[in-house]
Amino acid sequence: MTAPLLQLDELRLHFDIGGGLFARRHRIQAVDGVSFSLEAGEAFGLVGESGCGKSSLAKAILHLHRPSGGKVAFDGTDLGALGPEQWRPLRRRIQYVFQDPLAALDPRMTVVDQVAEALAIHGIGDRAAQQARAFSQLELVGLSHEQGRKYPHALSGGQRQRAVLARALVLEPDLLICDEPLSALDVSIQAQVVNLLVELRERLKVTLLFISHDLSLVRHLCSRVAVMYSSRIVELGHADALFDRPRHPYTRALVAAIPVPEPREREPELIASGEPPSLLNPPPGCRFHTRCPAATAQCRAEAPPLIPLADGRLAACHLER
Ligand code: SF4
Repeated sequence: MTAPLLQLDELRLHFDIGGGLFARRHRIQAVDGVSFSLEAGEAFGLVGESGCGKSSLAKAILHLHRPSGGKVAFDGTDLGALGPEQWRPLRRRIQYVFQDPLAALDPRMTVVDQVAEALAIHGIGDRAAQQARAFSQLELVGLSHEQGRKYPHALSGGQRQRAVLARALVLEPDLLICDEPLSALDVSIQAQVVNLLVELRERLKVTLLFISHDLSLVRHLCSRVAVMYSSRIVELGHADALFDRPRHPYTRALVAAIPVPEPREREPELIASGEPPSLLNPPPGCRFHTRCPAATAQCRAEAPPLIPLADGRLAACHLER
């Protein structure tokens, strides 16, 4: 059996904030004991409401924020044990696409120069080869030579996100982490970019970690999905099973909130009311108990472990054993 491409073991990212002479320090538990793995070539979705820790998890994987505990292994290498020089080749193999394409691009450089620059940073080819490869990568994501010669502000939001994808994919990464890559785009443009992602993933065989609050997009793109709530994974399984028969009450609430043609058909008690808890002071026991219609005394006192159910998925709920 081959090792997974990416393996997270009990990953934690806690930040201390505040402090000073008289102020108390507070600890934010942005990621709290997250474990899962990605096989090479798969498309894995991470879903949850905004503020649940999804983006912090992506940054902890990349060590843009150094994890407070646990381990990230990429292709068998413990990323926590690497020095800056050892990170360099891995930065090419793991690419990250941010939420806001305008912020991700340099306003002072043309798009094609930014794609070529990614190759130059990693010492791939001479200048002429870098430019040629940058133009062909832009073509692959649907941008013409003329669009490639423009500055980011002269492109539409969808075109900019295509440019960001071209810059990531020109390095032929093994793993592409997309963090809410469509949330800054109009719905009609989202569909185009998501279809492009499906096509590119199949063609380039890149492994995808797709982070989103939008379950419909994740279902369209991903074969396995993890659901995150208040910095922890609460359910993980194959996309079809998870969306057709969600087992954790929070997943049920998320699935019930996916827009449907006839909203009156929805079971209202499945829609989670209230706000997610603060990561500064999460509730004891099951963190979903403050919103869960099925919560019991045990839920308020004891955190349920993430355990395998009979159908092979994982869930963290005292009622699902
Ligand atoms: Fe709800 Fe209890 Fe399950 Fe948490 S453990 S999801 S509160 S039933």
